Amino acid sequence: MVPRSEDVRRYLRQTQELFGDELYLNLQLQAPLPEADFAADLAAFEQEICLCQNCPLGSTRTQFVFGVGDPSASLLLVGEAPGAEEDRLGEPFVGRAGKLLDKILAAIGRNRNKDVYICNVLKCRPPNNRDPLRTEVDECEPYLLHQIHLIKPKLIVALGRVAGQTLLNVDKSLKSLRNTFHDYHGTPLMVTYHPAALLRNKDLKRPTWEDFKIIKEYLEQSN
Ligand code: URA
Repeated sequence: MVPRSEDVRRYLRQTQELFGDELYLNLQLQAPLPEADFAADLAAFEQEICLCQNCPLGSTRTQFVFGVGDPSASLLLVGEAPGAEEDRLGEPFVGRAGKLLDKILAAIGRNRNKDVYICNVLKCRPPNNRDPLRTEVDECEPYLLHQIHLIKPKLIVALGRVAGQTLLNVDKSLKSLRNTFHDYHGTPLMVTYHPAALLRNKDLKRPTWEDFKIIKEYLEQSN
C-alpha cells in the first residue's frame, strides 16, 4: 500500500510543527499490514487466539495476555512480553512497572481505558522473563499486526529496547532509536524507555517525560 499524498503531506506538516525544518525520518518503510484471515473485532479475535499453542510458551504460560484498553485508541503502547504478575492476572503491565506506566499516562491526560491500548509483542510469558526468541516473535507478531489492523492507532509507542528492536527488526541501541518517527507497517512508531528501566534508573524519567510530551503533542495535532 502506497501512502496517499495527502497523508504524506499531513505527516510532514505535523513533523515540521513539532521539530521545525529538521526532518527525522526512518525511511526503511515496512511492508503494509497483510490482510489476515482473523476475526473482525478485538473481543472475537481474543477468543480466536487465546488458546494458542503455536510456540512452546503456550505450555508454560499461566494466562494468555491479549491486551487491554480502548479498542479504537489513537495510542498503542507495546511492551516486550508479559512478566510474572501479567502472566498470573492475564493483563499487560500490572506489576510495579505497570503502576508507573499508569502515572505516565495520567500525566498526558489518559489512562488504560481512555484512548489507549496496551499490549506486548509476545502474548505469553517467556520463562524467567528472558528476552523473546525470534521464533516466538515470528509466531506472535501476526497477532499484533491484526490488533493494529483492528485498532488503527495513530501512533505506536514501543516500550523499551527489546520491543523497539524487535518491531523494527534492527540491532540498534535504545538511545539511537529514540527521537525518531519510525514506520511500522504504515503506522508511525516511536521508541521510549521501558517503565521498568525508570524504576532502576531515576535519571531516565526526564528523557521519558520529554518523549511523552512529543507523543501528547503529536496525538493532539493529528486529531
Ligand atoms: N514488561 C513488559 O514488557 N510487558 C508487560 O506486560 C509487563 C512488563
